[in-house]
Amino acid sequence: MISEGIVTVSYIAAMVLFILALGGLSDQETARRGNWYGVIGMVIALVATILGVVNSHYDILLAALVIGGGIGIVLARRVQMTQMPELVAILHSLVGLAAIAVGYANFMGASHLAGVELTIHDIETYLGVLIGAVTFSGSVIAFGKLSGRIGGKPLTLPGRHLFNLGLLLGAIWFGYEFVVQSAAGGGMQALVVMTVIALLFGMHMVLAIGGADMPVVVSMLNSYSGWAAAATGFMLNNDLLIVVGALVGSSGAILSYIMCRAMNRKFLSVIAGGFGTGGGTPVSGGDELQGEVVAVDAIETALLLSGAKEVMIIPGYGMAVAQAQHTVFEITKVLRARKINVRFGIHPVAGRMPGHMNVLLAEARVPYDIVFEMDEVNEDFPNVDVSVVIGANDIVNPSALDEPDSPIAGMPVLECWKGSMTIVLKRSMATGYAGVQNPLFFKENTRMLFGDAKDSLEAVLKAL
Ligand code: NDP
Repeated sequence: MISEGIVTVSYIAAMVLFILALGGLSDQETARRGNWYGVIGMVIALVATILGVVNSHYDILLAALVIGGGIGIVLARRVQMTQMPELVAILHSLVGLAAIAVGYANFMGASHLAGVELTIHDIETYLGVLIGAVTFSGSVIAFGKLSGRIGGKPLTLPGRHLFNLGLLLGAIWFGYEFVVQSAAGGGMQALVVMTVIALLFGMHMVLAIGGADMPVVVSMLNSYSGWAAAATGFMLNNDLLIVVGALVGSSGAILSYIMCRAMNRKFLSVIAGGFGTGGGTPVSGGDELQGEVVAVDAIETALLLSGAKEVMIIPGYGMAVAQAQHTVFEITKVLRARKINVRFGIHPVAGRMPGHMNVLLAEARVPYDIVFEMDEVNEDFPNVDVSVVIGANDIVNPSALDEPDSPIAGMPVLECWKGSMTIVLKRSMATGYAGVQNPLFFKENTRMLFGDAKDSLEAVLKAL
């Protein structure tokens, strides 16, 4: 056992490291360092907690650490970049589950508290279990949606807002019952009923959200998992957990806000659900085809690129699926060597998680100074000779701007059709995540290069 003073000092060091980690992660160039700060902070936190706070059942703790750590290592090694979002979602659900478990254990364990202290402790427990249960069931459904096990269509029950309101009022009422009964030695029933209500709410909240709005949900659940951890910290009287939970909770909330702004959505409307339905039949008619598309091959693509002065590369989810980022960079190098200005335009919700494309491009060592955010390049498209859309769909869909009934209506998109020529790389005419057809493919100045993005790009590279 180490002394309380050393635990406190270690906790402060861990907190500082976690804050430095967040700071580091805000920029690609410092992200690796930020990650290491986080790892070191977590090791310090774990060691200090195990040696200074835990005082019995070391065997169970060690067994759990070995099993949990082992599963974590296997998962992290096996996961494909395309499965990362679902992994993150399922990991969030574990934070929720832990908060529920700690809440119940805390409630069932012997308590020496009485009066106001007991009431405060009960409210902490109740809130911890509530947030934990919403996080747990919401994350499980988000995992299902992101991995394609559950369809992307929003579930719009009639009277769903009343249903949500009913659940909220129920949770408040049972909270009152719980506190009153707990003072008299009971309360388990109310806690169980609330847990069921919260689980239902979490499921319903995520089921009601349309495909294209999933980014907001992912970041929101990230935030909830932080608040669930903070609530656990209150229950366990652990300052580090409270601070870390608050850091995760608030950074997740800021990320949700950024994602909402990127998608031109109001935060509350997304949470209330039913977005992505559009209230009518999309004008683009779901995945129906409209008109003719012009296909090109790799050689024609290479010719078009060679004749360009300004090239904009727009990566999307398909680039992640095909793992085409390295080939993209090879092509970029060839074009830049020929004095062609190549830039990357990144949509904030491209791929399946915030920053997805930036991670892939960083992995391929694409220099940061040619990678731009959507807002930085959208005005420039009239000057672009060739835009290359690599496995992206929803983020370059003009119907977001001119079809008010479209499920993605209002979302800003990369307006590549304003350039001279757009080449779209994808395997078929299939729709993207939001399930709507894309009028871009049928425009006069669009060419389709069909096939797996990596294969197509390798052929283009060869032709170049
Ligand atoms: P989309 O899902 O809209 O489109 C991806 C396209 O890639 C598909 O049309 C598919 O067409 C093509 N594709 C798939 N595999 C390959 C391959 N191997 N080679 C070539 N093409 C391929 O992706 P976007 O990035 O454009 O948009 C992201 C969408 O995901 C948005 O709707 C966003 O809201 C949503 N989302 C984003 C999250 C985030 O945090 N970023 C989280 C959750 C959802 P085909 O099958 O014909 O090849």
